[in-house]
Amino acid sequence: MSITVGIPQALLYYKYYPLWEGFLGGLGLEVVTSPATNRRILTAGVEAADNEICLPVKVFYGHVLSLKEKVDLLFIPRVVSVEEDAYTCPKFLGLPDMIRAVGDMPEVLDPIFNFRLGSRRVSRDVYSFAKRFTKHPAKVWRAWRHGVDEQRRYVAKLESGWTPVEVLSGKAPPEAKGDMTIGVVGHPYNIHDEYVSMNLVKRLRKMGARVVTSDMLPHRVVEAEANRLPKKLFWTYEKEIVGSAFYWMRSGTVDGMIYMLSFACGPDSLIQVLLEQEAKREGAPALMPLVIDEHSGEAGLVTRVEAFVDMLAWRLN
Ligand code: SF4
Repeated sequence: MSITVGIPQALLYYKYYPLWEGFLGGLGLEVVTSPATNRRILTAGVEAADNEICLPVKVFYGHVLSLKEKVDLLFIPRVVSVEEDAYTCPKFLGLPDMIRAVGDMPEVLDPIFNFRLGSRRVSRDVYSFAKRFTKHPAKVWRAWRHGVDEQRRYVAKLESGWTPVEVLSGKAPPEAKGDMTIGVVGHPYNIHDEYVSMNLVKRLRKMGARVVTSDMLPHRVVEAEANRLPKKLFWTYEKEIVGSAFYWMRSGTVDGMIYMLSFACGPDSLIQVLLEQEAKREGAPALMPLVIDEHSGEAGLVTRVEAFVDMLAWRLN
């Protein structure tokens, strides 16, 4: 019988699931994911996590709890850095410890990914993690390559206009129609988790808007735009938010932008100020911040989104 390893459908799942699934599958493990977020998962996460923590981490707790009885192991990597000169949010470093502290959990696998120390160090860490499952270095590298290839295909698909949910479910996006284009920025675990975002992307499409998200822009474009800031941003994922928003503001390729951010997120609150300042420039598209937490109601969100879309339609006519 194969060993089962659980990957929670939350946080960096939306960024790296194909890499992780390809790698772990290549090592001979059977990957099990939690279901899409639902009321039960959210409630369990809110009850288990510290009250002060951001919503996405609470949601992550809920996903872990939903996997608890179903898997032998949990895969919760310690993602410190994914490029040489920037870090991820500190919450990603502490996740494995936070989950162990819940108690009575399956064993947590927490390989370290720290690209700031260089790719040789990452290779060493990958091998030292994988040698528990195979004694053959060649098998480890084949599994890793397989994961990397899957990830490349995933990113190419995102850049061709699919959302993470569409790529991972294999369901093609609906044909884009309508004259209005809206850029949706934010962490992928907020905007692409359909329960958490209250179906923001689908809702906008139903209202007749074309929707573009940060994942759909090539990395080099986003990086170049973020580098226009006088001071370098230390956080990779926030750089992606700023870079994509700046690109849309300058290129005039969107009519409006919605920034979905989490209450109690330090990085988000800083980025919000940067985006709002930039949006004040003459000719920049309208920007609407949407703050979400576990108490956010659908009616409030719908009212705000509808009013924003009406305002953009009025401007276009
Ligand atoms: S970046 Fe913000 S929302 Fe994401 S895990 Fe960190 S604190 Fe939470």
